[in-house]
Amino acid sequence: MDTPQTRESPSPAWPTLNLVERGALREVLIHGPLPRAEIARRLGVSRANLTRVTRNLLEHGLIVEGATEQRAWTGRPSELFEIAPTARHFFGVKLTGDTIFATVTDLGAHEIATAEEPIVSRASDDVAAQIGGIFTAFTERFDDIVAGGVCVAGDLTQNRKVIVDSPFLGWKDVPLARMLTERLSIPIATENDVRALTATEHWFGAGAGCSSLGLITVGAGIGLGFVIDDRLVTGAHGRAGRLDHLEIDASGPVCANGHRGCASMYLTNEAIARGIDGPEIDYPGAVELARAGHPGAIRAFRKAAEALGKVIATLANSIDPEKIILTGDGLAVWELASADVRAAIDKTLIPSSAPLDLDVQPFQFDEWARAAAVLGIRTVLRF
Ligand SMILES: [Zn+2]
Repeated sequence: MDTPQTRESPSPAWPTLNLVERGALREVLIHGPLPRAEIARRLGVSRANLTRVTRNLLEHGLIVEGATEQRAWTGRPSELFEIAPTARHFFGVKLTGDTIFATVTDLGAHEIATAEEPIVSRASDDVAAQIGGIFTAFTERFDDIVAGGVCVAGDLTQNRKVIVDSPFLGWKDVPLARMLTERLSIPIATENDVRALTATEHWFGAGAGCSSLGLITVGAGIGLGFVIDDRLVTGAHGRAGRLDHLEIDASGPVCANGHRGCASMYLTNEAIARGIDGPEIDYPGAVELARAGHPGAIRAFRKAAEALGKVIATLANSIDPEKIILTGDGLAVWELASADVRAAIDKTLIPSSAPLDLDVQPFQFDEWARAAAVLGIRTVLRF
């Protein structure tokens, strides 16, 4: 029996793990406490092999033996393995055009600490230096931060090492992952923010356990991410999932790309506010007007809802997911016009499709920074 729950000299560094050890850790991260036999079954390895694996993970302080569950067929207790709550920490940063949102999580992606600073200068070296300062402050409280991530709105190269284009920051071809890995002396990954959020939902959120999953965010932009057969899809050029320019209305207004009536002209927060006849208002004002029953505002949200339903169903038609998660800070469209979203889904979904499992998840802005920390967790597990 493995009982090394106390370690003589815990090393804060991330240990070298083999493929099966990483796989076992991932199973416990995604599915919660599991008995050894179940982990072995999921990985397709022998129980003897897995005993070695769990012993190593226990010795590294990455898992603990938790509660026991009765085995139905023998009545004997079976110990469950779970993530050690204090097993290493991870650093995450979400960059917007004007703010650095930072967090520290544990291996289970629970947020332990957060920080927020306005960006002093958008020059990439200056932003890297500012992130370095936040990281140093965190290391005074956490001496075992082993990896991290940064997520931004925008395009990255297919290998996700270079931020090709991030309009809010005005960045072109910034190798931020390398710059920060050198500066912080821990591996730092970078990723598109919606893909980072999709990966987080796939391991730690509403999509945990789904092998195929779609995620749509509504807000300042329309974001799409998806997982097919347990793999986060990036695309050959890092640009998979651009349904924000799906045609909704061939007689609609023209977007910056020259499309007439595409989803981006109806569904973004700005488009909704702009689509209301009358005095110029911002998005919170548009939500307020619609909640108060203003016909023009309701019309704008219903048009946004039609676009959203079409985007959701097109994603479902394309990837056949187990579920689609809808989230973001523009969820008022769901609150105000969910019947229109449903109607557009029904109209667009191929009739022979499986019923669509749409999971609407309330959104908090700190989810982005947490998703960036999960990039660090995926990095050490080499996913
Ligand atoms: Zn467009």
